[in-house]
Amino acid sequence: MTPFLYARAADAGEALRKAALPNARFLGGGTNLVDLMRETIERPTMLVDVTGLDRTIAETPAGGLRIGAAATNTAVAEHRLVRTRYPALARAIVAGASAQIRNMATAGGNLLQRTRCAYFYDDDGSRCNKRRPGQGCDAIGGFNRGHAILGASDSCVAVHPSDMCVALAAFDAIVHVEGAGGARSLPFAEFHRLPGDRPEIETALRPGELITAIELPPLPIAARSTYRKVRDRASYAFALVSVAAALEVENGRVSDVRLAIGGVAHKPWRAATAEAALRGRPFGEAAFTAAADAELADARPLKDNGFKVELARRTIVAVLESLAGDAA
Ligand SMILES: Cc1cc2nc3c(=O)[nH]c(=O)nc-3n(C[C@H](O)[C@H](O)[C@H](O)COP(=O)(O)OP(=O)(O)OC[C@H]3O[C@@H](n4cnc5c(N)ncnc54)[C@H](O)[C@@H]3O)c2cc1C
Ligand code: SF4
Repeated sequence: MTPFLYARAADAGEALRKAALPNARFLGGGTNLVDLMRETIERPTMLVDVTGLDRTIAETPAGGLRIGAAATNTAVAEHRLVRTRYPALARAIVAGASAQIRNMATAGGNLLQRTRCAYFYDDDGSRCNKRRPGQGCDAIGGFNRGHAILGASDSCVAVHPSDMCVALAAFDAIVHVEGAGGARSLPFAEFHRLPGDRPEIETALRPGELITAIELPPLPIAARSTYRKVRDRASYAFALVSVAAALEVENGRVSDVRLAIGGVAHKPWRAATAEAALRGRPFGEAAFTAAADAELADARPLKDNGFKVELARRTIVAVLESLAGDAA
């Protein structure tokens, strides 16, 4: 590990001042960043610990929920208002990592965890455009079973690994940030980027910006939501495919639906095409399959991951059927 300085910040202003040094990084739970430092993929010269910042989880005046960026994943998943009003978020979080890691990991850090592409982690022998821009991508012609089927590019086919972010995408979360230019709010759909020809730029954050909070809008449909994760092992594995969904049915028709897919793209994938195909339509297996097919029509599987198209289709249909069963 490359030597680095460490400082703990008491508030956002201090964190921003201390992180103004070149090559500084904010430190949340360290569950991803420290691993990357051990592998010398990340080489910060200054770590600014932000775990002492806002970790409150509270209802907003509008009836939504504000989650301080330093709140641990465990605290978010166990919060009464998360479990009752946004159950897919609680389920997504507990589907990830282990209890020990969730106790350390923070909401802010979860949004910025890096891909688990094995070639990205292999700094000794593999080419990776995300690690070294312009170098090439060994995953494209290599072993790409876990990689993207939607929205990928000729530069990068990695997937975003977060479970929590899939639920946040389905619920139109807002990410509050602060930086040298002041505070601003980013809609979740704009927070993570598709790779294009700059896969090293993963989010819309400006250099040095601090995530201060995540806000969930008031969303009654979210109380009828769930999350399902399909993976190689029952625990301690990232998603091959995951689905966060909420469904509302009225008089035999879908009155509203929220759907996002994980494990399929460089960002949590909001399934807007499937949602549009379902709204106002009679619900049932045929409608759910047609909506999944519409969403996956643009899927471009790689050599080893064609199975993800069928897996995503079946998982979407199964999750919607389970929600419809509960709603009927
Ligand atoms: C063995 C293992 C298994 C895992 N399995 C899963 C899984 O199944 N599903 C899943 O979703 N995740 C999984 N994870 C990942 C885990 O959820 C992430 O490592 C964690 O969420 C990152 O949060 P952190 O607070 O530890 O971030 P850190 O490691 O501290 O930081 C991550 C990044 O965020 C930046 N950062 C942190 N806080 C802020 C802030 N407030 N503002 C701006 N930047 C910030 C850091 O500079 C760094 O770049 C696993 C991790 C491990 C080690
Ligand atoms: S898929 Fe992306 S992260 Fe993986 S090797 Fe290629 S460029 Fe790197």
